[in-house]
Amino acid sequence: MKKLTSTAGNIIGDNQNSLSAGKRGPVLMQDYYLIEKLAHQNRERIPERVVHAKGTAAHGKLTITHDITEFSKADLFSYIGKETPVFLRFSTVAGEKGAADAERDVRGFAIKFYTQEGNWDLVGNNTPVFFISDPYKFPDFIHTQKRDPKTNMRWSTGMWDFWSQNPESLHQTTILFSDRGLPTNLRHINGYGSHTYSFINKKNERFWVKFHFKTQQGIETMTNEEAEKVVGKDRESSQRDLYEAILNKDFPRWDMHVQIMTEDQACTHEDNPFDLTKVWSHHDYPLIKVGVLELNRNPENYFNEVEQSAFSPSNTVRGIGLSPDKMLQARAFSYPDAHRYRVGTHYESLPINRPLNEVNTYHMDGAMNYKDIKEVEGVNYEPNTFDGPKEDEAFREPALDMEGKVDRYDKTKNNDYFKQPRALFNLMSASQKEQLFSNIAAAMQGVPQYIIDKQLALYTQVSKEYANGVKGALS
Ligand code: NDP
Repeated sequence: MKKLTSTAGNIIGDNQNSLSAGKRGPVLMQDYYLIEKLAHQNRERIPERVVHAKGTAAHGKLTITHDITEFSKADLFSYIGKETPVFLRFSTVAGEKGAADAERDVRGFAIKFYTQEGNWDLVGNNTPVFFISDPYKFPDFIHTQKRDPKTNMRWSTGMWDFWSQNPESLHQTTILFSDRGLPTNLRHINGYGSHTYSFINKKNERFWVKFHFKTQQGIETMTNEEAEKVVGKDRESSQRDLYEAILNKDFPRWDMHVQIMTEDQACTHEDNPFDLTKVWSHHDYPLIKVGVLELNRNPENYFNEVEQSAFSPSNTVRGIGLSPDKMLQARAFSYPDAHRYRVGTHYESLPINRPLNEVNTYHMDGAMNYKDIKEVEGVNYEPNTFDGPKEDEAFREPALDMEGKVDRYDKTKNNDYFKQPRALFNLMSASQKEQLFSNIAAAMQGVPQYIIDKQLALYTQVSKEYANGVKGALS
């Protein structure tokens, strides 16, 4: 039997009775192990994520089934059959850590690929677009998804007030209030990188790329009424479903695809190809198969692996890069900043976040630093003459042409935010349209009429049928 110890390894003689002055007397301060237990209990939580707080995750692998080396020299795509370990964290966006799973919300789909050349994080969602395209709007938008600052209750007014003034959100809200806005569980959703990223091949040619993960389990969704029943019985419905499926060796799988756009095509593309509120048509940019993502191992410890896992779009590897997408640049700053605050300076040295390859950095010291972070012995600057780690120009990206004046550009000018929601609306069956109308009407309960009218005016610009359908469901 293992012996119980303090955190310093001192073997504990009694873990049932505190040390007291006399049988009925007060406890003594010198009962250090009591103090250690209480102090640790006070520190059992780290700040929860401001968004995507309720998460569930699993380990697995990406297996390459098709050759895409003409587009990217990334190590993980290097040959058919290549396997790369992954960790995928799903989440809801708005709910706090204790929120129920079966809520209408976007689902986070964040993947960490542990490649031989460092970690690549694709921090996506189950939707191909997002509500906004400018990071200035990000904190404001998130406030509307959270609680009324006065009552601390979830509120619809803030959401619709914001959306009705930002037509760029129409595409994402049409998805959110469609049947796909309330998935039955996490195995039956698609995942999308959403942003445009770049691929760079061996010839140092750049391509723009979007990532798609199509569920092999098929899409499955719930109505609001079905979800209410699920939440009444089980607040962890999605987490339980994924955990039990993996436990029963019913491993969920997704087909990984990319859409590729050349730099020349980007110059003549009808929309800004870096606008996060727009998709690229499958017809013009067909899906190209890459591989199969499989989840096959549950975490051993929720806190260590899921809560402390930290993803960031700034984690890119040779052959995969960022793009001029404004939201992507903001996230590349904002996510590591959140992790340094939430988990700590050395969050990337924790086992779940640590890359497979050696980390060699001249960053120094900081809270919770330990020898495993391979600080260079005896030299903490670069360049140095002591054989310390050096840059490798093979990992430089090719130059990217940019032009234009520094300014604050109004993205809404001459920008058609109605065409793509219309295309989506026109794809829907009659019963999907009915669900869309009634889901929107349900979410608008309690919202002042002038805000509803503003939103209805936006729906009219998508299609009269859309606006009339919502009006009908509201009456
Ligand atoms: P396609 O007909 O080739 O593709 C339609 C896509 O819509 C499919 O990927 C389908 O996913 C998806 N879809 C169907 N219903 C919903 C829904 N309620 N919410 C979200 N996605 C849904 O069309 P286009 O490429 O020409 O695009 C037309 C519209 O389809 C777009 O304006 C966009 O709204 C939507 N869409 C397009 C995507 C793209 O990357 N081009 C990706 C996702 C949506 P599935 O195949 O899994 O059924």
